[in-house]
Amino acid sequence: MFPAPRPTHVWRLTWVCVAFAAGLALPQSSLADAPLQNRDTFEAVRDADLQLATIGWRLSVANAALCDRLEPGLGLQLHTLDQFDSASRDAAKTHFGFATPVAIEGVIADGPAARAGLRQDDSLVRVGPVAIATLTGKQGTTQRLVAAQRAIAALAPDQPIEVEAIRAGAPIKATVQPLPACRTRFELRLSSDYNASADGTMVQISSQFLEAYTPEQVAGAVAHEFSHNILHHRDRLEARGVDFGMLSGFGANVKYFRQTETQADLLSVYLLANAGYPPQASVAFWKRFGPSKAGGIFRSRSHPHWRDRIATLEAEIAKVETISARPAIPGLIAERSQPLDGNWQAILVRAR
Ligand SMILES: [Zn+2]
Repeated sequence: MFPAPRPTHVWRLTWVCVAFAAGLALPQSSLADAPLQNRDTFEAVRDADLQLATIGWRLSVANAALCDRLEPGLGLQLHTLDQFDSASRDAAKTHFGFATPVAIEGVIADGPAARAGLRQDDSLVRVGPVAIATLTGKQGTTQRLVAAQRAIAALAPDQPIEVEAIRAGAPIKATVQPLPACRTRFELRLSSDYNASADGTMVQISSQFLEAYTPEQVAGAVAHEFSHNILHHRDRLEARGVDFGMLSGFGANVKYFRQTETQADLLSVYLLANAGYPPQASVAFWKRFGPSKAGGIFRSRSHPHWRDRIATLEAEIAKVETISARPAIPGLIAERSQPLDGNWQAILVRAR
């Protein structure tokens, strides 16, 4: 039903926080269903990627003090020619002007790369010591893009980085002064399903959210997923031996998932506030998503009820609003090296 114009890499042990498979009654997603072959759809995808990158950028830089894994924040959204399938590859090459396999899809407005003079459609030759030509990946995948992102993320978070690129056929150079940022990749999945997930190193959301929700509501969902990574939830769930698959809603798995879900909701409020988003955006997201997509037969046993999640978020927002310092850092951050105890009842506020 949905073509996959841009395959993503396969990852292991991702857990899906919110999911809702689009049925026949739902309107079709323009991004997911249009063939990726013309100027309008290429630019629509670029625009959507930049929207998510901008949300990720704001959250990652403003919350660097809450993260123990940092990367140099450049304010760059990259893409690779590899990720376009054979039907759209030539058109993509022409449209974006790929001169190397990895290019700048866009720059964050007023971010370090933009200030250093880098622009969209500059093709990358080298980022610091990372030579793009040495990176490999299969055609039809984002492997080379992920390899570039990982190699850049491993560089010092606060040292200037010299970038060599090709612009309109001519070599250019720029020196970018990065901002320390939390080390997480943000990935847009072209899909008319509602889907948001985190795997420890990446946050992925489906394009349908960008089409149907406000940017602030999307930031609320992204902040929740990002919180899982900041709190090392994947590692801590693995340490408890939980089942990430069909059994996540059964037995001892339930208490650990509910604890991590509730912790991610609590931290999301701080991430939003620190990044200058209204923390109420998380509540607005659940008020909209909960009744239609997370209730009734869509209710997940491994997740708390959406009404309780809203009550929990509202109680935490009231706390954050009494703190004037930014970044505000909750006690959850200091506790993230400890094993999960499964006591979700102690942190979930029940809806009245
Ligand atoms: Zn979650």
